[in-house]
Amino acid sequence: MTVEVISIGTELLLGQIVDTNAAWLSARLAEVGVGVYRRTTVGDNLTRIVAALREALERADGIVAIGGLGPTDDDLTREAIAELLGEPLVLDEGEAARLHEFFATRGRTVNERQLRQAMRPRSAQTIPNPHGTAPGLYAEWHSKPIFALPGPPNEFQPMVVDAVLPRLAQRAGGCVIRSRVLRLCGIGESDAEAQLQDLISSSNPTLAPLAKLGEVHFRITARADSPDQAEQMIAEMEHAVRARIGAYIFGVDETTLEQAVVQSLIEAGQSLAIAESCTGGLLGHRITSVAGSSEVFLGGVISYSNALKEALLGVPREVLQAHGAVSEPTAQAMAEGARQRLGSWWGIGITGIAGPGGGTPEKPVGLVYVGVSDPTGTVVKRQVFPGDRATVKYRATQYALWLLYKGVKHGGCASLSPL
Ligand code: AMP
Ligand code: MG
Repeated sequence: MTVEVISIGTELLLGQIVDTNAAWLSARLAEVGVGVYRRTTVGDNLTRIVAALREALERADGIVAIGGLGPTDDDLTREAIAELLGEPLVLDEGEAARLHEFFATRGRTVNERQLRQAMRPRSAQTIPNPHGTAPGLYAEWHSKPIFALPGPPNEFQPMVVDAVLPRLAQRAGGCVIRSRVLRLCGIGESDAEAQLQDLISSSNPTLAPLAKLGEVHFRITARADSPDQAEQMIAEMEHAVRARIGAYIFGVDETTLEQAVVQSLIEAGQSLAIAESCTGGLLGHRITSVAGSSEVFLGGVISYSNALKEALLGVPREVLQAHGAVSEPTAQAMAEGARQRLGSWWGIGITGIAGPGGGTPEKPVGLVYVGVSDPTGTVVKRQVFPGDRATVKYRATQYALWLLYKGVKHGGCASLSPL
């Protein structure tokens, strides 16, 4: 079974956005045994979209079209499919009702333009879009499947997983597919891959690495005759992965590192306070993004200036003068100050140089010290992170969360030294 992917949007041709959807989709299709031999990008032009759809359907067993389903005049995908099929567009009553409700709950009424999104070619079915207003479309051309999905990645990806992959996998021969993502921190993609080489070359279930900012994901995907069998295959693969690099796995599927940290603190019954310099509140933001974090997170200090490090956290002036604000002893005093002054079990202190300016040969841009303190002691780690200002800040929070996660899981600061 092969499909072709057609990305629709002039902004893609102008290079204003990168076609991340097509890349992501290709990886998912490969996992379920569906081949992609060709991808096409076409602008918002009805004639050229219809031609691209037809040509792809003549070559492949089916197509997935991305984008062009929104409410604006340049969103032409549904018109193009109708023209390809030689059918009129009709109003889908269910989607129309959903749109009316969507706007009603926001105190607005649907306009003509918005209602276009509820139109579909007569023989097509709509594909539910839980995260947006434009549904997807499913149609057939000479028995070949046509999927059309909206472009925003947060809408597109779940629709692929829920509606496209199961149907294509079924056509490709397997009956059900299941997948699970293992999330790792504290290990680079290539190191992780090196330890899993033989597993990565397995064809069913597949194991596919994906590098993210500050973490690595491995997606396990199984094709099987029954859901139970697929789950069993996934469990076995997960077991094999955990046996080798389980120490770096903090969660599965949608679990974020901050969620894992909060959960582990709740389980341990331990509280947290933080002191942030270069991350400017990002760590606090990430922690408080987790529902239920108030159970364990007391709060923090954004001590950007030396004066506040001294006044609010008790960082000794001599330490700041002798070693500077970005130094191991300062990070240590910040972590201990947060813990003692704010009255928590755990304290975190982060100080660093986010850049782009301010670096020196001894203290380059990206240099970050993270202090972690608990009743068993204090540990300070030094890292030099690559990337721009926002990236360095994010990586610093990621690293701090990872240290904390390891510390909580392994019985305190004393366990952090061999990291
Ligand atoms: P559209 O469905 O064409 O109106 O696209 C809506 C938005 O989805 C665009 O403005 C982009 O932000 C995003 N988008 C569309 N196509 C893609 C794509 N192939 N890859 C990544 N993002 C996309
Ligand atoms: Mg568009």
